[in-house]
Amino acid sequence: MMKGLLISEILKGTSIGQKLEVNGWVKTFRANRFIALNDGSTIRNLQCVVDYELFEKQLMKSITSGVSVHVYGTLIESQGVGQKVELQVEKLNILGCSDPIQYPIQPKKHSLEFLRQKAHLRIRTSTISAVMRVRSQLAQSIHRFFNLKHFYYIHTPIITSNDAEGAGDLFRVTTLNIENLPMDEKGIVDVTQDFFGKPTHLTVSGQLEAEIYALGLGKVYTFGPTFRAENSNTPRHLAEFWMIEPEMTFYDLKQNIDLVEEFIRWILKDTLEKAKEDLTFLNQRFSKEQLSKPMFQRSELNLIERIEFILENPFERISYQEAISILENSKPNQKKKFDYPITGWGMDLQSEHERYLVEKHFKKPVVIYDYPKDIKAFYMRCNSDGKTVAAMDVLFPGIGEIVGGSQREERLNHLQNRMKELGIDAKELWWYMELRKFGTVPHSGFGLGFERLVQFVTGMTNIRDVIPFPRTPGNASF
Ligand code: ATP
Ligand code: MN
Repeated sequence: MMKGLLISEILKGTSIGQKLEVNGWVKTFRANRFIALNDGSTIRNLQCVVDYELFEKQLMKSITSGVSVHVYGTLIESQGVGQKVELQVEKLNILGCSDPIQYPIQPKKHSLEFLRQKAHLRIRTSTISAVMRVRSQLAQSIHRFFNLKHFYYIHTPIITSNDAEGAGDLFRVTTLNIENLPMDEKGIVDVTQDFFGKPTHLTVSGQLEAEIYALGLGKVYTFGPTFRAENSNTPRHLAEFWMIEPEMTFYDLKQNIDLVEEFIRWILKDTLEKAKEDLTFLNQRFSKEQLSKPMFQRSELNLIERIEFILENPFERISYQEAISILENSKPNQKKKFDYPITGWGMDLQSEHERYLVEKHFKKPVVIYDYPKDIKAFYMRCNSDGKTVAAMDVLFPGIGEIVGGSQREERLNHLQNRMKELGIDAKELWWYMELRKFGTVPHSGFGLGFERLVQFVTGMTNIRDVIPFPRTPGNASF
């Protein structure tokens, strides 16, 4: 292990006059004298001042962007503007050279598209490293919230054989030789010869398994990767994304919505405090970005104001019925501006409709509840009107749907009827039915797409830039 302090610790400025060691990568080397050193611990660089005369010419020549170094020196108050302290270098070792011509991360602005091709080096840029530190902080805040609220963290399986949920297309998991599949007499693939003796796939959600654990532990959450083989090449969809799914016994839909609001506010506030420097940087980036957009597409609030707005304003809660009425009477609908016209009660809302409600009509996050049962999943609790289910979606500005949740159907006969209506095989879900047979209780939960939350907080427009290694149709490099 190399000895050394983190730059984040050094920049707290408490060790003026002290000798110290530090390691990192050279961001820039200017005037043959000033190294901007970064080690990933903070958005800020440590200015290291090298006295040209003191070092060998050859050594000085090899200091270029991308080189990794170990330096030893004295921390002094900085002579220049722009930083409070700097390191007067006394010893300098190059740990790893770098070819200054070939190194792709030059000290200039790179497009995010370009950086996606260099996913192994893009973490050395200010933007991506700031995003990833914020991402890490958000994850920590989420665990902290649930811990404070007495939730248990459970790990639901990634490989599963249950495919009843219908949440999206599945990635098949198999050890069968796809070039030479075993067939039965009827010429159908013999899945009994597969690893698990039946068809399996990567999970699209940990909810059903989380329900099992909630009905014994009370309040639980999962936070893990989920997989959808949907061919949606949008800035909001990944084939592999992380989802946070709490499940609470004795919660009805209203308590579920109350929790999601409290949860989102708490983690945003915590992250705003703990990731202040990175968010300040991303805020400046966001504001610059806005200037390059046409007037009508610009956000009225800057990034930090947008987060603070969420902290200060309750979400708007409207029923699906109200949402449809608002959309029917809306200008874009009457002027036939929507790609998908509003056809009335029963229709599924498209993201253009959701964005209208959030960004134009209410100008704040919106929770829509009580959806028609036919556009929602089988496990959602039937309301007494016989037409709607106790579902809720949370819609965010710039992102659209960020959370989907519901109160679950806890009444065995209702669940059986619904599954029959939808042609879902009760044999497959026998265990799910048994939970309703042995000590059933009202319970609720939701799923929050982690990357969409990171997008909202960091202001990144493409979801591929908020996950270290994005998986999208046609792309699984790195
Ligand atoms: P959408 O309509 O945006 O595709 P969905 O209705 O398929 O979302 P759910 O099945 O309710 O979404 O999943 C819960 C949450 O997971 C969503 O609210 C969203 O935040 C997130 N999510 C869903 N699909 C994706 C995806 N492909 N990539 C990233 N996040 C996703
Ligand atoms: Mn979807």
